Amino acid sequence: MNFEIKNTFNLDELGPKPLKIYTYPAPVLKTIAKEITEFDQSLKEFVSKMIKTMYLSRGIGLAAPQVGESIRLFVSDINFDFDEENDEVIINASPEVFINPIITKKSGETIYEEGCLSFPGIYEKVKRAEKITMSFQDINGNKKEIEADGLEAICLQHELDHLNGIVFIEKLSPLKQSFLKKKFLKNKKK
Ligand code: ZN
Repeated sequence: MNFEIKNTFNLDELGPKPLKIYTYPAPVLKTIAKEITEFDQSLKEFVSKMIKTMYLSRGIGLAAPQVGESIRLFVSDINFDFDEENDEVIINASPEVFINPIITKKSGETIYEEGCLSFPGIYEKVKRAEKITMSFQDINGNKKEIEADGLEAICLQHELDHLNGIVFIEKLSPLKQSFLKKKFLKNKKK
């Protein structure tokens, strides 16, 4: 899939971040996103911008609600790396887009320390399914299916939650959640 992203590139080449990232407690992060029905040029352009915004934010996934659009789509790339000599250079880029995704199968359990571009500075261990099967549509509306495990399965579950108005810390106990939300809002004011 080519979204005008090369396999290796300097982050400078992408220019400024094209989309603003919304952070907690933006209402769009708490909203259930709408199904996508039009697979047109404007959707392609939006996805391109999301991919650029994801790399410029050094994230492995970004969901449309995080950039203020309440639609069922996210982008991810769990395979890219930073060049050893220069961490402004991305290597092995292979961005993917997931539209109208649903999990059709899940099994096992895994715990991983997650972060989120909408909660900068907060990292917490979250329990999720170890393996998943996800069906989705690609940028042209074609139906696809992916089986994922490891970091990819974690990332896909985290991003799908965003489309359902769920942020990762809501996977934690109510006590921990309110502690983290308060901590985040306090730091944000500074
Ligand atoms: Zn997130």
